[in-house]
Amino acid sequence: MQNYLDGVVESEGGGGHDLEYYKVQALMSRTYAMKYKDRHAKEGFGVCDRVHCQAYHNQLRFTPLIDTAVRQTTGMVMVDERNQLVDAYFHANCGGQTSEPDYVWNNKIPYLRTFKDTFCIYTRQATWEKRIPQSQWREFLVSRYDYPVNDSVLGPMIYTFNQPERSAFFQYPWLGIPLRDIREKFGLKSTFFNCYPEGDEVVLRGRGYGHGVGLCQEGAMKMARYGYSYLQIALYYFPGVKVINYNEQQFFSQKGRLE
Ligand SMILES: [Zn+2]
Ligand SMILES: [Zn+2]
Repeated sequence: MQNYLDGVVESEGGGGHDLEYYKVQALMSRTYAMKYKDRHAKEGFGVCDRVHCQAYHNQLRFTPLIDTAVRQTTGMVMVDERNQLVDAYFHANCGGQTSEPDYVWNNKIPYLRTFKDTFCIYTRQATWEKRIPQSQWREFLVSRYDYPVNDSVLGPMIYTFNQPERSAFFQYPWLGIPLRDIREKFGLKSTFFNCYPEGDEVVLRGRGYGHGVGLCQEGAMKMARYGYSYLQIALYYFPGVKVINYNEQQFFSQKGRLE
């Protein structure tokens, strides 16, 4: 587990960060690995080395600090109020507001609710821009979702959208166009974007990178730089969870089953 987490923390977090960031990343990655350790059981192994489970490129190459972080958090995991391992989701940058898990996977997770994250807004991957030919945009929305192009109000609005706060759908929920579908179709960094027409293109201006659920890595890096501890960072992104030793968790979850 020590060697595995060294490689995962480096692959997922990169070099050059503070110890407390690496510790919180180790906590996330250990919790995730313990919870999903049998994910590939049918294929004869535990977890894969891709983003599907957690990226694992190789063992430590850049910094011994990662090894220290993994050691200093040995055995520590996050559990919910019933002492079950939590879904320790993380992503590169939330763009200033984390996502409801519901928007991404149609399923609610009690300890993960959307909130405004002020730590990541001036960081590297905080904003992005992408231009898409209007013909492609229109064709997708019309053929797949029957967008009302002939409607006198909505028709001319097809290239225009603003979301001051994260929403799940393009324009209006009743149109039934999930932003996650648009993200997937056009390979967008996130679903948190505004757009407007310009020439024969749609210009998308977006915030954040990734699904936006759980821990925001660039926010966590910034918190660590400001001097927050890994526990403070973990509880900021996962309010209401407990951080305990895995052996204790095993004890409580077995006890829970017996009662
Ligand atoms: Zn996998
Ligand atoms: Zn963030």
